[in-house]
Amino acid sequence: PYDVLIVGGGPAGAAAAVYAARKGIRTGVVAERFGGQVLDTNAIENFISVKETDGPKFAAALEEHVKTYDVDIMNVQRAEKLIPGKMIEVRLANGASLKGKSVILATGARWRNINVPGEDEYRNAGVAYCPHCDGPLFKGKDVAVIGGGNSGVEAAIDLAGVVRHVTLIEFADELKADAVLQRKLRSLSNVDVIVSAQTTEILGDGKKVNGLTYKDRQSGESKKVDLEGVFIQIGLVPNTEWLKGSLSLSKFGEIEIDAKGQTSVPGVFAAGDVTTVPYKQIVIAAGDGAKAALGAFDHLIRSSVS
Ligand code: FAD
Repeated sequence: PYDVLIVGGGPAGAAAAVYAARKGIRTGVVAERFGGQVLDTNAIENFISVKETDGPKFAAALEEHVKTYDVDIMNVQRAEKLIPGKMIEVRLANGASLKGKSVILATGARWRNINVPGEDEYRNAGVAYCPHCDGPLFKGKDVAVIGGGNSGVEAAIDLAGVVRHVTLIEFADELKADAVLQRKLRSLSNVDVIVSAQTTEILGDGKKVNGLTYKDRQSGESKKVDLEGVFIQIGLVPNTEWLKGSLSLSKFGEIEIDAKGQTSVPGVFAAGDVTTVPYKQIVIAAGDGAKAALGAFDHLIRSSVS
């Protein structure tokens, strides 16, 4: 068995692997896609000490760093079941079973897609999901935020300070965000709010976004907004479907952890976007991966499993 078995090969899983391996303990990483969400990213400009890089380069660097240690990397393998016990078992989709004295879950999250024409075509070419990441790319331009919950309204407030103009588009007939956020939003002169609006298409010139269309759900009319960026903020879904019933999840499906990354199951730790930790960012996921590995090591030196 592994001393530390890590599920997930994004920034959180990679950092956990480096920290665990440096303790000289048997470490394995199983990942459906080593690199994680970073692989879908263009420019990364906020990983401290790396002024600028791109997703594939960053993912390759993660892998290269992990490979300098004695870590078993099992890539293109999906975990399907976690079975707690003195030895914790992780079952894979290919039928294999792996065991760990401790396990770190770092399966990340995915942005909920709006599934309209143009979304796939213009992803990273005007269609964005993360205002902290991509906001500065739209400096001085007009953008829309789709989604009027807390994350959508926060994104609109954040972007209003960076871009020229923000149109916030909400499907329902009112915003769902906290009143204090809505007040702040409405105080901003470069933000328009449109409710009862169903986004129907993200338009572009073949290379990048130049507008969107929506249906006014009250009049049934189709309307068009000219802009250069669309931030989709309709939810971040943690990759925990396979864990339901085996440990405590929040109402959003995120894994609940304590300050050391320990979950509700002894010996099982978690890190990164899959957890309740706020602000889903690479630098945060990596820091939490390191923390979970140290938490797991602490657990191992105190436990009787040998
Ligand atoms: P992830 O990166 O999601 O990695 C999860 C890992 O788990 C993957 O290897 C995945 O294949 C694996 N996995 C999932 N389910 C299973 C399973 N059942 N079995 C086995 N393996 C599984 N953040 C920034 O800080 N700066 C940016 O500029 C930035 N830009 C972004 C742009 C885009 C388009 C996106 C989508 C995200 C961006 N982010 C950015 C956010 C950042 O990518 C995430 O916060 C970060 O990758 C989270 O790391 P993680 O290791 O927790 O999860």
